[in-house]
Amino acid sequence: MLGDGALGGKCIENGCIPAKAMIYAAKLYKQAINAEKFGVTIKGARLDFNKVLEYTDRLVQDAIQDNDRQLAQFDNIDLIRKKGHCVSESSVEVGNEVYTAPNILVSTGTKPWIPPIEGINDIDYLTHETIFNLKKLPKSIAFVGGGFISLEFANVFNSFGSKVFIIDTNSRPIFQADETISIAIKKYYEEDGIIFISNSRTSKVSKTSNKVNIGTNKGETIEVEKMMISTGFSANAEGLKLETAGVETDQRGNIVVNEYLQTTNPNIYAIGDILGKTQFTHMALRESKIVIHNIFEDNKISVSFENIPYAVFTEPLIGSVGKTEQELRESGVDYKMIQTEFPRSSRGNLMKLKRGIMKLLYNDDERILGCHIIGEHADILIHEIIPLIHLPNGLSLFRKIVHAHPTLPELFRNLQELLG
Ligand SMILES: Cc1cc2nc3c(=O)[nH]c(=O)nc-3n(C[C@H](O)[C@H](O)[C@H](O)COP(=O)(O)OP(=O)(O)OC[C@H]3O[C@@H](n4cnc5c(N)ncnc54)[C@H](O)[C@@H]3O)c2cc1C
Repeated sequence: MLGDGALGGKCIENGCIPAKAMIYAAKLYKQAINAEKFGVTIKGARLDFNKVLEYTDRLVQDAIQDNDRQLAQFDNIDLIRKKGHCVSESSVEVGNEVYTAPNILVSTGTKPWIPPIEGINDIDYLTHETIFNLKKLPKSIAFVGGGFISLEFANVFNSFGSKVFIIDTNSRPIFQADETISIAIKKYYEEDGIIFISNSRTSKVSKTSNKVNIGTNKGETIEVEKMMISTGFSANAEGLKLETAGVETDQRGNIVVNEYLQTTNPNIYAIGDILGKTQFTHMALRESKIVIHNIFEDNKISVSFENIPYAVFTEPLIGSVGKTEQELRESGVDYKMIQTEFPRSSRGNLMKLKRGIMKLLYNDDERILGCHIIGEHADILIHEIIPLIHLPNGLSLFRKIVHAHPTLPELFRNLQELLG
């Protein structure tokens, strides 16, 4: 059963795919206007907001149709486009029908969490669910929340020419990311004209003609055409009547699971964002494979939330895996750190890259503890470290890798040289 969303969830409908499509368009535009310094003149390069939205929308509609087509090929799957809820430990009610099964899987995801802000219900704020419905480019836009999602959209709107503000309760954005990366992205965005209102909580909003007036607890005020809220997510557990099925949730409403992804009712499994753990599509996909195995096989596989990589599609990109430096410091673990900068590679130099940092955290037992990259192709570069971080002697293997010249992975050679 699918509820009222699209087959494929928020990743396809209003998450990863449309966001990354907009980001790709913004990147192409920036490359076109910066091509001159490489001897390439692209006259009349223009970012057309409505055409980008058309491209994004087409992509989403095609992906949804493709999912529908693929599912229709299975004779043994019935898709019910309605919301369901539990009526017993082994049955779910949808409309007037009750379906009973030996196993049930819950993956109802999350919805945007809207913080208590005075006047919030009187204004038309945006979330990731509605931002793709904008009909015209706003002259100014404020993002409430300094997480990944705000940062990705902030760069897009800044590239389009909107005046962009990010209001955040923390001192620096993407606070959970490695501090070097977090400090760097703030610096780069500020250089690009994005204004951060940090250490401030959005406390009050009101409508003034066609604008939104935003006030913070520190007394700062700004007036913008649009405001998007991206302050986290709350579990879509409401209305599922999980208690009827013996499925427990934690204080935040996320479903509690064991290492095999079984809920407190062992015949009911849960995966994805509703667990409130590592909220990425690649993790939800991994969890789905584990559950399929655990339902049909006797030898159960356990899930691990350690060393799950991620990419953030900021400008420049972020690729990350493992512990951050602040996590290691705070847990009192002994570690060493080396880092290099993107301009310090032949490829980075010829691409005239002025920004980018690659940082490796490791210990004396030849174990890689974390790797954090901000820079061109960071999403791809991080994949060199992903297998190595799982190996006890990952650093010894890393020392032996030869990187092709002249490529950005040669930045890893810089790190090898620093290791000695
Ligand atoms: C703007 C944005 C960008 C993102 N970018 C990335 C990225 O680059 N990489 C990445 O890995 N992740 C990204 N994510 C996160 C990613 O989208 C989620 O981790 C992923 O979609 C989680 O999948 P899910 O199946 O748990 O939940 P969802 O995708 O939310 O799917 C839940 C489904 O359950 C349905 N449902 C809800 N209630 C009921 C009910 N009662 N009965 C039946 N059905 C119900 C919903 O309609 C929906 O179809 C992004 C998210 C956002 C918002």
